[in-house]
Parts: sequence; structure tokens; C-alpha cells
Amino acid sequence: MWRSYHGIQYSNKVTIIINDLNIYVMKKYKITQKREECLGCGRCTIICEENWEMDSSDYKAKCKKDIIDETEYAKNKEAADECPAQCISVQDCDLEQNLIL
Ligand code: SF4
Repeated sequence: MWRSYHGIQYSNKVTIIINDLNIYVMKKYKITQKREECLGCGRCTIICEENWEMDSSDYKAKCKKDIIDETEYAKNKEAADECPAQCISVQDCDLEQNLIL
């Protein structure tokens, strides 16, 4: 389902920014975490404090949002790569095959 906000078209899979001369397509990524495997070390919250925080109810990490765009990818991917439990994954959201601009 496509939505529009001030010239920006977006769905849960991709964001398209249209201005006078250019069209930018920003990929989106889905974060998943196997919380039961989280060790509570806090490493992800140090690497990517923008999107990861500790949950004081169970002392495990949780992400603030599970759909991110390209600008947020690098730090979230680093957090996933550095997680000692390897319980975080960051994957491309599939582009819709019939996307027509
Ligand atoms: S780095 Fe991994 S194990 Fe450590 S708090 Fe984050 S999700 Fe949990």
C-alpha cells in the first residue's frame, strides 16, 4: 500500500523521494531479533544507540523500529555483525516486482 507525504511516496518496502529533477529510491530493510537468544551484553546499544536500547523488564536489547532505510543500514548491520549471540539479522525488504514510476 502506497502512501504520500509532501511529495514523498512510501510503502513498507521502499521510499521514493521526488523533487523537480530527480527521483531517489531508498531501499528499506527489515530487522529481526531472536530475543530469547539475547545475552544482554548491550553491545548493539553502544554501536547503534539510535535504534537499539536495553529493556529494563528483562535486561535484553530491543530495537526501536524494525523497518529502517538505507541511511540507517550501516550501523544496524554493524550491530548485527558484532552481536556475540548472532541473534540480529538485517535483510532487504523485497522490492515489488511491478513497481511502476
Ligand atoms: S549485542 Fe546481541 S546479545 Fe548483546 S544485547 Fe545486543 S542483541 Fe543482545
